[in-house]
Amino acid sequence: MQRISGSLDDGRITFGQQEAEPDEIVDPVCGARIERRQAVAASAYAGRAFFFCSQECKARFDADPEAFAPADPAKEAER
Ligand SMILES: [Zn+2]
Repeated sequence: MQRISGSLDDGRITFGQQEAEPDEIVDPVCGARIERRQAVAASAYAGRAFFFCSQECKARFDADPEAFAPADPAKEAER
């Protein structure tokens, strides 16, 4: 694994524990777990990005994003 050292040199910020962003995302429409690079469509809603396994899922999401987007992402963080 290649280490990338950037300009974050003040010693306070380290990415040692979370070097890689999770590549797995959940399609909010069908609930499929897919790798982000496998997502064929993406949509932005409420300032967040959502990824989909198919154009069909994206179309359904775009038609009614409120029905699929998690209402309050902070809730999940509480757990
Ligand atoms: Zn899907």
